[in-house]
Amino acid sequence: MNHINLATVWLGGCSGCHMSFLDLDEWLFTLADQVNWVYSPFMDVKVYPNHVDVVLVEGAIANRDHLHMIYDVRERSRILISFGDCAVTGNVTALRNPLGGATPVLERCYLELSDHHAQLPGDDGIVPPLLDRVLPVHTVVPVDIYLPGCPPSAERIRAALEPLLQGTMPHLQGEQIRFG
Ligand code: SF4
Repeated sequence: MNHINLATVWLGGCSGCHMSFLDLDEWLFTLADQVNWVYSPFMDVKVYPNHVDVVLVEGAIANRDHLHMIYDVRERSRILISFGDCAVTGNVTALRNPLGGATPVLERCYLELSDHHAQLPGDDGIVPPLLDRVLPVHTVVPVDIYLPGCPPSAERIRAALEPLLQGTMPHLQGEQIRFG
């Protein structure tokens, strides 16, 4: 069996989806025997590689770095999985959208609610500027598989990955596509 190149990406999310991935427990050993891990927050790899077969993308697109990253991820990956409710709908990350843009959000957090040294964060190249609107992944680049849940359970993650390891697309249904 050919090993697939597997990646996971962490964008605008709380990392809970990646924590759920770790809940795969001993099946992680089975997975490790069947894939080449090529990029993940679990690894010390700085640049998203070419020729990724499957990538799970956690989180929404919330800042300029996320935007650049998701274009690279899409261009270099064959199957992109929108991993968790924040990636699929914006979810928690998008709760700031009704405030009407990046500036009111930053002013509220760093000026109005500050007790000491109120100042807006900003350092080009270090603090990525927020987008005015948090975007679900599929509104920026095409998505191949939606894996909802906050977070998706380990069972659900496995149900999505097992067919891909066999070279077929998963057909998630019923409880496996419930939000929240
Ligand atoms: Fe965290 Fe839930 Fe968003 Fe996953 S979907 S990143 S667990 S808030």
